[in-house]
Amino acid sequence: MSDCLFCKIVEGTIPARKVYEDDQVVAFHDIQPQAPVHLLVIPKKHIATMNDCEAEDAALLGHLLLSAKQIAKEANLEETGYRLVNNCGHDGGQVVFHIHWHILGGEKLAALNPS
Ligand code: AMP
Ligand code: ZN
Repeated sequence: MSDCLFCKIVEGTIPARKVYEDDQVVAFHDIQPQAPVHLLVIPKKHIATMNDCEAEDAALLGHLLLSAKQIAKEANLEETGYRLVNNCGHDGGQVVFHIHWHILGGEKLAALNPS
């Protein structure tokens, strides 16, 4: 996708602080971190939203989640924990329409359902 920001990061035409890359996924620092550690993990394949994932993407998505686990470990988040978030569509707060998972950690994050 020529007009997709994250495809441009994959291609290297827009810079990013990459922390991991293989043949299927890339991870890099979020430009506006919302936590002491805020990384994004994306597939190299352009998929706009979770709604656009198909059965043929199952292996890619599995690989991405296992990569996220390893990336979190290498960011020293394994013991303290972290949040792995995918925002889907307008109500989910998605701004960049190339699927990505946020890895957030490095502090105790606010509960999603405070009681
Ligand atoms: P979302 O709201 O889930 O679509 O999140 C998009 C994320 O991409 C936000 O957290 C942005 O701060 C981040 N972002 C936008 N542009 C860049 C960029 N050039 N490099 C790194 N992260 C970015
Ligand atoms: Zn894209």
